[in-house]
Amino acid sequence: MVTGETEHTNSPVTTVPDVRKARTGENTVHTVILTVWQRDVTLESGTLAGVTDGMPLIAKVATSVSKTAAALSRAAGRGDGSVIGGWIGLKIDPDLLTHLAAGRAVALVSGTNGKTTTTRLTAAAVGVLGRVATNSFGANMPTGHTSALAKEGHTPFAVLEVDEHYLAQVIDQTRPKVVALLNLSRDQLDRAKEVAMMAQLWKTALAGHPEIRVVANSDDPMVVWAASGSRQITWFSAGQRWLDDSFVCPESGHPIERQQGDWWCTGCPLRRPRPQWIVEDEGVIDPRGDWHLVKLQLPGRVNIGNAATALAVAAEFGVRPIEALPRLSRVASIAGRYAQVDRDGRNIRLLLAKNPASWLEAFDMADQAPTLLSINARDPDGLDTSWLYDVDFSPLRDRPVLITGDRAYDLAVRLQVNQVQFRHVQTFDEALRSVPPGRLEVIANYTAFQDIRAELDRVN
Ligand SMILES: [Zn+2]
Repeated sequence: MVTGETEHTNSPVTTVPDVRKARTGENTVHTVILTVWQRDVTLESGTLAGVTDGMPLIAKVATSVSKTAAALSRAAGRGDGSVIGGWIGLKIDPDLLTHLAAGRAVALVSGTNGKTTTTRLTAAAVGVLGRVATNSFGANMPTGHTSALAKEGHTPFAVLEVDEHYLAQVIDQTRPKVVALLNLSRDQLDRAKEVAMMAQLWKTALAGHPEIRVVANSDDPMVVWAASGSRQITWFSAGQRWLDDSFVCPESGHPIERQQGDWWCTGCPLRRPRPQWIVEDEGVIDPRGDWHLVKLQLPGRVNIGNAATALAVAAEFGVRPIEALPRLSRVASIAGRYAQVDRDGRNIRLLLAKNPASWLEAFDMADQAPTLLSINARDPDGLDTSWLYDVDFSPLRDRPVLITGDRAYDLAVRLQVNQVQFRHVQTFDEALRSVPPGRLEVIANYTAFQDIRAELDRVN
């Protein structure tokens, strides 16, 4: 406690850039870091106790600077600061994530869809045992993980959402107790890896870590194959609405057959394993065979599946469903997702959908009410909108549909092909004025979602 503080506050400022110079060799980076660090001494002295005990000096400095950079970024109104904070921390100490993860029981959550929500629910469930560090803003690359752990200080537990491309790296750096694998489907055509390649990356990563308990979705053949080399696996069944990326066996290339929730490869032994956690009706069956009602504020069957995953992961930490469920029911929204806002007599609900599989889930969650769809194709969304043709929009035929966003006309063509009536609006306010009082469902992809969330005063 005192040692960490003393070392931090009393170190002569002039020695710090020298240490970093050896590590980074970039003068411009020094200047930024030095400035931030000097402010940090006054802003944050005393708050490092416990977080950095036992860490090398470079990691202590990196942790402190990372926290301060994130705080300054937040103060400047530039988002939650977790990316810049983590980036600077890792520039100073490339091993910072490893240092920060040491001594914590860590769970990683990865998959194409549902990982932000499942991470939030898992953190809530593990919270039964004590404080949990988590990257709940969806900053799911190592910079975000570093920032999340630095910010929370010393917590016995960490639950981290991991971008599927970074899973191998983050496993190596955080030595997790549990890795949860949700699903794999096509995502951002101009950037993401092909699904079978991603499954292969996961398989290789897990094969190198037989000590890890894998909690995996038995309904997704790609996930089952990726997990199949692991020694310790807990299977959950959360369903799989989107099937178009798993018609062919990743092991043998033969067709996969499906029947009433079961599936098997027609050319090799790969088949659906028997799950220990199963979504049934409005609840979850646990490995002992007990059924638990899952009452959530989050909509849709897909979120009962996410809750089942959270319960399965938390059980590996020793948390019983009966303890975790009340905490899951208190989660109302996650960084604006599922948030409900009342404005001008309209009850607006925000649903994020980023790729074909998540659009199907959004249609399932949305009520039969007027629905605003907004599509952008900026960098975080992926620039290619041809995925719109992978989505079947016909579930929207029986409700009033409004469209907006940078790429509303791409969406218009798609809806016309799908015989969905719609009306184009220029702004969110125009959309609001166009619908009668009552529910307005909003389904938007990433930056379009953030734009609308900003209109609603960055609702959380
Ligand atoms: Zn096969």
